[in-house]
Amino acid sequence: MDFLSSAEKKVSYSDYDRIKEQIKDAIDIVELVSRFVPLRRVGRHYVGRCPWHDDSRPSLQVNPERQSYRCWVCNVGGDIFSFIMQMEKVDFKGALEILADMTGIELPKAKRERKETSRERKKTDDPNDELHESEVDDAPQPIDRRTLFNTMDWVQKQYHEALLTLAEAEHARIYLKERGINEQSLRDFRIGYSPLDGSWLMNKVGNQPRRIECLEVAGVLARYKDEEKNTERVYDRFRGRLMFPIRDTQDRTVAFGGRILPNSSLKSSAKYVNSPETPIFSKSKQLYGLDIARLTMQKTKRALIMEGYTDAIMAHQCGVGDAVAILGTALGSEHVKILKRFAEKMVLVLDGDEAGQKRANEVLELFVAQGADLTILTLPAGADPCDFLLEQGKEHFEELLRQQGIDALEHAFRTVTRNVNLEKDIVGSSKALDSLLSLIAAAPTNLGGADDPVQLRLEKTIGRLAQRFQIAETEVRKRLKQWKDRKKNAVDYSVDEEAIPQETYSQSGWAPDALEREMLELWFADPTTFEELDNTIPDDWIQSPLTKKIQSLWRETLLEEPECSFGKILIRFDAPVVKNLLVDMDESASEKGLGPKMDAEKRQQLITQIIQGFSRRDHKRRTNKGLSDLKDESLSKEEKQRMLREMLDSRRQ
Ligand SMILES: [Zn+2]
Repeated sequence: MDFLSSAEKKVSYSDYDRIKEQIKDAIDIVELVSRFVPLRRVGRHYVGRCPWHDDSRPSLQVNPERQSYRCWVCNVGGDIFSFIMQMEKVDFKGALEILADMTGIELPKAKRERKETSRERKKTDDPNDELHESEVDDAPQPIDRRTLFNTMDWVQKQYHEALLTLAEAEHARIYLKERGINEQSLRDFRIGYSPLDGSWLMNKVGNQPRRIECLEVAGVLARYKDEEKNTERVYDRFRGRLMFPIRDTQDRTVAFGGRILPNSSLKSSAKYVNSPETPIFSKSKQLYGLDIARLTMQKTKRALIMEGYTDAIMAHQCGVGDAVAILGTALGSEHVKILKRFAEKMVLVLDGDEAGQKRANEVLELFVAQGADLTILTLPAGADPCDFLLEQGKEHFEELLRQQGIDALEHAFRTVTRNVNLEKDIVGSSKALDSLLSLIAAAPTNLGGADDPVQLRLEKTIGRLAQRFQIAETEVRKRLKQWKDRKKNAVDYSVDEEAIPQETYSQSGWAPDALEREMLELWFADPTTFEELDNTIPDDWIQSPLTKKIQSLWRETLLEEPECSFGKILIRFDAPVVKNLLVDMDESASEKGLGPKMDAEKRQQLITQIIQGFSRRDHKRRTNKGLSDLKDESLSKEEKQRMLREMLDSRRQ
């Protein structure tokens, strides 16, 4: 067997390809897909319910041998890279980073512009080992991201365990029970408790400096300096609090929210304390519960945004699986961007109080600016989402959303016209219209042409405003344009990276036709057929740019390695559309029973068939070309006769 890792072989691949190979070798697709979808083995495949459509029976197939996946209903497939691209709605670079993080393989700095010294480490189950490992290092060096993830994972487990077992945590357990949060939610959301003793965690890590440093960099420990006495003290930032781990979409704990408990003996007055910004946590990029909710969101295409952690937990508990919560008061444009990756519609769920209403106006521009489809649901006065869900259940909640949910613009309209008499107060209504137009002017326009949903919404909005304010549509348009011009000068428009495809396969004819597909399928199924076909078929008989590219990659690989294979080709392409096509060909080849186990006769027969097919196709092409050449007026009579003779000769062959 092959014991050299691909990195050690002399292959003329670029570093980039080598990294991709390393990552592919380190991650098993079955294990990766199982993180999202439960799989079971059926024959030589694993099957599970497809995460991208409402799948009543397992349509997702994972092929461990080919390290590929495919859903026959959605007609999508690919490898680990395209799986993550689709699952996490990231581009290829994003997928590469996520997978690299999983394996601990370091991406070249140019590919990953982060100042970090992530070193390759062996995977250990006990994060303490990880902490220990870094401690053994002689020179003091910065703590890398991987260690921080492990640290946070370890801390989260300690807090969770403390909540379940410590006598001191009894009042926390009672609080959760009173709020109606059940055992399952407690485990799903890994809720924890941080003991009152501010050095509890430090004692747990044996007061070792390197480990304490990890905890401090991770934001769990805080440092208190007494300037007067010139002393310093390190303590648990979250001591005595109920702990809500904040987890990223790769299921890693990156931060905590700590809630004070009723009747707490803590002197702190803050109801919530959140982790500070750390190398692995940015408040503007995380949402509470997204690790769990994003799977449901991809099916409901909706994201419910709640204000409190317990609101989101209760929503999940009641079967509303697409709920997340914001971290404290900050909802920013990054959050909207992230949610747009997973959901088409957003619903902001607000308490019925004044503060909630004010907040709605603050975030509105944010959603409008990104062209997000936003509905605002205000709960009946006095109700908070957690209690409402607990008392009324999912059905009532969804019903309330259907009846009371109003779109963002309507909400804004109601707010700005609350104390204005639209018929009599000319100045007031003009002001109200202007404040709405200034909001709408922030929306992106002409992104996708006339049938772009954002554009359609804008058109409808203009009509509605004209009607509501009883002025002409042309007047609304004129004023909107003035606002847009003003914004244009004020706002720096940044380019949306996601809108630019990394590889363009837009020209027609890039994909192989039936004949070339037949050849590629045979290569993938039985790589030993490559040589004869490659030697016999002249290069200019191949038409599709993709077939040409595969052929040249195959040749290139054979110069350096004894064999090429489907997997080696698959990894060289980044575009999901190509990966999808390659997996489709590979799977249909195996359906047809092609493979190295075919008997020699069948194998030869297939090769001959394909060669004949190419020859026929080329002949047809030349005849067609000949016939059109014959129409050329500049040719002499002799030349035309010679060409005709040649054509007839070749037909007789
Ligand atoms: Zn599917």
